[in-house]
Amino acid sequence: MNEIKKPRKPLMFYYALALVAIILFNGLVAPLLFSPRVTEVDYGEFMRMTESGQVAEVMIEDNQIIFSDGQGGLYRTGLMDDPDLTQRLYASGAKFSSQIVEQMSPILSFLISWVVPLVLMIGLGQYFSKKLVEKAGGGAGSMMFGMGKSNAKVYVKSTSGIKFDDVAGEDEAKEILSEIVDFLHNPKKYEEIGAKMPKGALLVGPPGTGKTLLAKAVAGEANVPFFSISGSEFVEMFVGMGAAKVRDLFKQANEKAPCIVFIDEVDAIGGKRDGRIGGNDEREQTLNQLLTEMDGFDSSKGVVILAATNRPESLDPALLRPGRFDRRVPVELPDLQGREAILKVHAKKVQMQKNIDFSAVARAASGASGAELANIVNEAALRAVRDGRRLVTQADLEESVEVIIAGYQKKNRVMSDKEKMVVAYHEIGHALVAAKQSESAPVHKITIIPRTSGALGYTMQVEEGEHFLLTKEELENKIATFTGGRAAEALIFNQITTGASNDIEQATRLARAMITRYGMSDEFGMVAMEQLTNQYLGGDTTLACSAETANRIDEVVRNLISAQYDKAYGILQDNVQQLHALAKYLYEHETITGEEFMDILHRNTPQIAAKVV
Ligand code: ADP
Ligand code: MG
Ligand code: ZN
Repeated sequence: MNEIKKPRKPLMFYYALALVAIILFNGLVAPLLFSPRVTEVDYGEFMRMTESGQVAEVMIEDNQIIFSDGQGGLYRTGLMDDPDLTQRLYASGAKFSSQIVEQMSPILSFLISWVVPLVLMIGLGQYFSKKLVEKAGGGAGSMMFGMGKSNAKVYVKSTSGIKFDDVAGEDEAKEILSEIVDFLHNPKKYEEIGAKMPKGALLVGPPGTGKTLLAKAVAGEANVPFFSISGSEFVEMFVGMGAAKVRDLFKQANEKAPCIVFIDEVDAIGGKRDGRIGGNDEREQTLNQLLTEMDGFDSSKGVVILAATNRPESLDPALLRPGRFDRRVPVELPDLQGREAILKVHAKKVQMQKNIDFSAVARAASGASGAELANIVNEAALRAVRDGRRLVTQADLEESVEVIIAGYQKKNRVMSDKEKMVVAYHEIGHALVAAKQSESAPVHKITIIPRTSGALGYTMQVEEGEHFLLTKEELENKIATFTGGRAAEALIFNQITTGASNDIEQATRLARAMITRYGMSDEFGMVAMEQLTNQYLGGDTTLACSAETANRIDEVVRNLISAQYDKAYGILQDNVQQLHALAKYLYEHETITGEEFMDILHRNTPQIAAKVV
């Protein structure tokens, strides 16, 4: 939200404005409104009316005569030198008054000349400041006139009609959230049975999985106002005012109920209070206010709080206890089906050729988040435009998967033949080790076209079905596969290169996890020696053991990896013929698909080596 910060005008300014308004009102408007119409007549007419007894009341002033005809008519004429006027008037039965114009009661006149203009002023002021806010799309800070209420702010943001249909996959999350939508539609149903709606739901998951999108969809489905603010905005924009802003936000939400309050990136304010001296006081106050507000309001009114974070473990436990964010909605990376659905949702927005195989694209984009998939579709559309085509093709999509995941092809980067050969053997080394261990196609596609990301070769893995548990053996096989690249280099060229650095990192991480977190080593057994701290953002770990144990862990990790390396080396040695054939093919074609891979592998397998299972 883009807050427009206005310099705050002093209260005096508004008092002065009100005063001017009152003076103007009394001087210009009031006389017009409240003084009766006076008809100007000549002296002759006055004398005539006196004669015929039409003058009911008369007032003689220094230079004029005001008189009434007793029927509401009021007249004025100039004063003449007329000595027996008084006598004549008396004779005609006119009444002498000192005040003809009927005076309003003092209270009424005070009301009209002071209170009415003030009320008008305030009313107009509010009307215009509201207008301002609406015009600015809900972002502008509004200023109420005087009265010390100077920071009203409407957070309502248009949800631009986002519905659950716009969020593909994430069925579990949608199911949980649709209950909230139902509640906002029909709170009675829940009240009657005595069920309390959860006050808040916390969307957790890696970046780009559609948490913000889901929150907007809830508001769109429920068709209620959507108050949205991100945690970082609290921290960065309202320095020194975080707590006040929280109070303000909830006050407005209560007025607009039923509605949804969405706090994006809530970890920015909801982080654990660590009690360190000189800690972040401001943030703690903001958090405390948030906790208080969440306790204080009545969810039956229909205010639902949604929050999103990708660091749930860093949130303060007080925020997570029942009665606050008691619903936790996991928004995970999409699976194969989910990816396909997300691609289709975004494909609707671009012109596509018919018969696109979205499933193939989804398979290639394994591990991609919703945001990345949206990006893939857009990248494909851009590619089509670049080539002067009007429809996006399958090839566009497949190329853009590689672009998003591995970067653009480096057209002008020429690898030397020797390097290209090394890369070919390295990549085939991985794939062959994997294939020999699982007896299935290990890859969707391998290419050895350099990418802007720095990768020289690139392997698209195939989805091996939905995997939730990994056995110790499977993990060891994975490590062996990681080492396969380096093993092939060593076996064929008798030299090693820097190309394996990423493999080494991954193998090490896996091996460490096996020992310190999965309890898969004989030596340490089921003792957790490492804790995962950042599950959704890369997965950092912190070691929690003595220095000697740490030493031993390093040693066990080393042994584990080198054993797997030996295994991989052995596999490649036993299948060196296939290794040569496959690497040659990849070197020549720069790309090899899973089918081609299996084909060549089987053609080159000597009969006697066929494994008996
Ligand atoms: P997060 O808040 O989890 O980081 P966002 O909700 O901001 O992610 O998602 C970013 C963009 O990615 C969305 O605007 C949308 O285009 C796309 N996207 C992410 N997940 C999905 C999904 N499940 N279905 C459709 N689009 C998605
Ligand atoms: Mg987000
Ligand atoms: Zn490698």
